[in-house]
Amino acid sequence: MTEKKVYGYGGSELWVDLSRGSAERRPLREDLRKYCGGAAYAARIIYDSWVPGGDPLGEENLLIFAAGPLTDPRVPGGGSLEICFVSPLTELWGESRIGGEAGFSLRRAGIDFLVVTGKASEPTVLVIENGDVRLEACPELSGELCSRKEELLQEHLGPKPFDILSIGPGGENQVLYSTVMHKHRAAGRCGGGAVMGSKNLLALALRGTGTVPLADEKAFLGACREGHKAVVASPGTPEFRKWGTMGGYPYSDASGDLPTKNWKSNSWGKGQEIFDHYYGTNFQRPHGCYRGCTVQCGRILQVSEGPWKTPSHEGGEYESIAAFTAFCTNEDVDAAVHASWLCNEYGIDTISAGASLAFLMECSEKGLLPEEDRCAWGDSLVFPEMLRKIALREGVGDLLAQGVRRMAEKLGEASLEGAIHVKGLEGPAHDPRSGKSLGLSYATGNRGMCHIHPVEAKGWDADKQDFGLLPYGLPAPEEVAPWDEEGKGEAVKLLQDAGNLPEILCTCKFYQYVGVTPEHYAAMLRGSTGWDITGEELLEISERGINLQRLFNLRQGMTAEADELPSRIRSLPEFGRYAQEERCVIRDLSGMLREYYAARGWDEAEGIPLEETLQRLGL
Ligand code: SF4
Repeated sequence: MTEKKVYGYGGSELWVDLSRGSAERRPLREDLRKYCGGAAYAARIIYDSWVPGGDPLGEENLLIFAAGPLTDPRVPGGGSLEICFVSPLTELWGESRIGGEAGFSLRRAGIDFLVVTGKASEPTVLVIENGDVRLEACPELSGELCSRKEELLQEHLGPKPFDILSIGPGGENQVLYSTVMHKHRAAGRCGGGAVMGSKNLLALALRGTGTVPLADEKAFLGACREGHKAVVASPGTPEFRKWGTMGGYPYSDASGDLPTKNWKSNSWGKGQEIFDHYYGTNFQRPHGCYRGCTVQCGRILQVSEGPWKTPSHEGGEYESIAAFTAFCTNEDVDAAVHASWLCNEYGIDTISAGASLAFLMECSEKGLLPEEDRCAWGDSLVFPEMLRKIALREGVGDLLAQGVRRMAEKLGEASLEGAIHVKGLEGPAHDPRSGKSLGLSYATGNRGMCHIHPVEAKGWDADKQDFGLLPYGLPAPEEVAPWDEEGKGEAVKLLQDAGNLPEILCTCKFYQYVGVTPEHYAAMLRGSTGWDITGEELLEISERGINLQRLFNLRQGMTAEADELPSRIRSLPEFGRYAQEERCVIRDLSGMLREYYAARGWDEAEGIPLEETLQRLGL
């Protein structure tokens, strides 16, 4: 272990081997600045350690809890932690970010990257309290819901507060889209919960009370202040606090961005109604997922009475509510709030669960399932029982627990057209028929059709946001038509590189929507690390991370054929306000891909990074 002080970092990697019951602190990489943190640094570890042909649910998978150099409560949006692994759902690069304070605790314990390998012989928790690292058997936690697990573990650990990350029954039963939870926040996508479950690791309890050394505290705090000033000055901030992510629901519906009835349409016409009920009946107050969040997009919700009675909890974000309303054409918002809450308690991803249920409804209508497993469009009464069955992998729940790609493989040819995914990850609640660059970004995302990385693309061409990227060459959004296809490749590359920065720095992505730019991040890093880093260099670090994840996927056997969009979401909607709007049809995805590959410096036919690109990025 090097004694060299690394400014801006907790200072080490911690490798825990659950099979051997051992823990080893290792120094941070010498080329730390090249990867910086979060998903880029974790990609380097996973690329170097993973042996192709391994089983994502085998003990050989690596589960990395990665903080970033800006995981700090003083940083605008600094409360995030990245969880990286090989996804059991897609068998490709897997990552998921979670809001909250666990990253602070990890760094204060002197750890930036916690790498968990192996498999414990019995249900186990990993406790890290500053320099003390221990594994404890915890058979009594098996089968408990997530919030109860956190409660029981905290009781067991005594009065000192720990930040607890846990899995629910979904993760224990290896539902392929199960989550890692932290106080009702989810690392939702790609099945990190199943990886944790496959290792018999039920929870992590983190407590750190040290400090992270800073190269120039005054400069760091000054840069944080500048970032906060930009957030305060942004007209989006009060709107975001007032309406949260659900504020966008009526607009999504009106703008053709709301996947409806398993993507048969991109609009529903019920957006305002759903929003009105949510804010009139369920919403209690805004909430920040860590102390220090000034935007506070989180929602405290409840259903106070009736069959869907649900205690006050944080949840019911746009994606989750859309998954249990528009995806399934369910108009009962209380049922959707309840279903989203259940998913968080069972530890399963709301988006993939809602998408799988919508697909089941479609396959039921087509008669592709036995009578007893069918459910009708809009039938919210089935939600609780179906979600329980998914979490426990009982009956039809075992089919649903595998996600739509595997469901379609089992249900046969007639079902295929309705299995909406890219690279095996179910589509979120944004429709590329609202703006073509979103489609390109979905098709090329390393983790598949996710709701995080691609959304800037839509923010740019459809919603006219520039994210402070004009100085880096982004064409002015006002000069771009959402439904045009030509000229999007280069912009999507830049939007992805910039949009990936929160995954590396481990900060909240929404702050990029309210004024925080690469230059703000670079200034904070200059203060914390002492590096003479610029916004351009940060974008290159992100580009390096994206390329490394791409190389990982290619080594897993993925080809350019996986850079695809399901035909349904490239086609004219079957109904709704855009059903006659030919311009929303995606006509030439191949042409858009060619432009994008060229911008990335990838082979234009195969989508493989060219030698000169790898050399430029030092890969
Ligand atoms: S804006 Fe929302 S997601 Fe981001 S840190 Fe605040 S509460 Fe968490």
